[in-house]
Amino acid sequence: MIEKDVVIHALESVDDPELGRNLVELGMVRDVAIDGNRVTVTIALTIPNCPLRNKIARDAAEAVDALADDLDVVIELTAMNAEEKAKLRATLQQGQTQHAPNFPAGDLNRVKTVIAVMSGKGGVGKSTVAAMLAVSLRRQGLRVGVLDSDITGPSIPKLFGVSAAPTGSPLGIMPPQTALGIKIMSINLMLRDTDAPVIWRGPLIAGVISQFWNDVFWGDLDALVVDMPPGTSDAALTVMQGLPVTGIVLVTSPQDLAGMVVRKAAHMAEQMRIPLIGVVENMSYVICPHCGERYTLFGAGESEAMAETLGTRFLGKLGIDPEMSKLSDSGQIETYENADFQAVVQRVLITQT
Ligand code: ADP
Repeated sequence: MIEKDVVIHALESVDDPELGRNLVELGMVRDVAIDGNRVTVTIALTIPNCPLRNKIARDAAEAVDALADDLDVVIELTAMNAEEKAKLRATLQQGQTQHAPNFPAGDLNRVKTVIAVMSGKGGVGKSTVAAMLAVSLRRQGLRVGVLDSDITGPSIPKLFGVSAAPTGSPLGIMPPQTALGIKIMSINLMLRDTDAPVIWRGPLIAGVISQFWNDVFWGDLDALVVDMPPGTSDAALTVMQGLPVTGIVLVTSPQDLAGMVVRKAAHMAEQMRIPLIGVVENMSYVICPHCGERYTLFGAGESEAMAETLGTRFLGKLGIDPEMSKLSDSGQIETYENADFQAVVQRVLITQT
């Protein structure tokens, strides 16, 4: 007959996908009963209608089943009681340093790096660069989230093809995950009609942005990428003041440079004492699909010189790529590959890790 300890040991290999730790460590294995060949495991979920309940049950059954040939494994799912939830919180809080007092999720989140992606004005590819940065970091095996703080122009869910509404849990709001496992939070995931405009005044927008940080259970993240509102609006100020931003990536396009908008954004960061990671020039050029010639439609960008004036790094130039806009429009940005972008990410990583 199989021993209970062996079963528990096997369950240590099964992670709760949202919390990123194993079921035993999280105190989710409430009971293991063994009767001859029959092994009954009772798993207490954080919430009864946990969207991942089937996956957790399947993974647990597989792990126990693999222990011997003739086992009859039964997984019973139930919900955590108050005592189990309190223990879970205590477990997740261990080693916790950053917190926002009154919110459960804010207390529990452990986010190593917060990278904000900013632009002087809209339409230069800020959201695209934010999304691609998250994808590249995720491909390198890091635990990544994207906080869409562009409340009036939220485009992150569409880029990733995610429409699942966030779920509630005793730990806070659970952000939905993309196909690659990037956690995302955006106002568009909360709206019933995603075409409905968000016509809110500043304080309401500021409230939502701080909720996205304090009330969302991001858990353990290596990097949280924040898609900033465009320009130097008060929503941008909310992010800079309310979130522990580690550094800012500034996105420009060549035609953007004539104005002072980029410098304004950079100076805002400086005044808020947030370091600039560097400048990315997007939509720098286009390559003719027929002859392969490279055209700089808006003239030679001066981002390199500007980055130098601002005392920051030039991270690289990205061309206009119809493939990228096609994949963005169809919610498949995670499948996009681009060597130039990879080089940009490597330069970001040098300063952030
Ligand atoms: P912003 O966040 O600055 O408003 P977006 O990232 O939403 O800008 O980009 C605006 C539009 O330009 C989107 O349709 C996006 O798909 C497209 N786009 C951005 N960068 C590129 C690029 N390098 N190649 C092709 N299309 C791009």
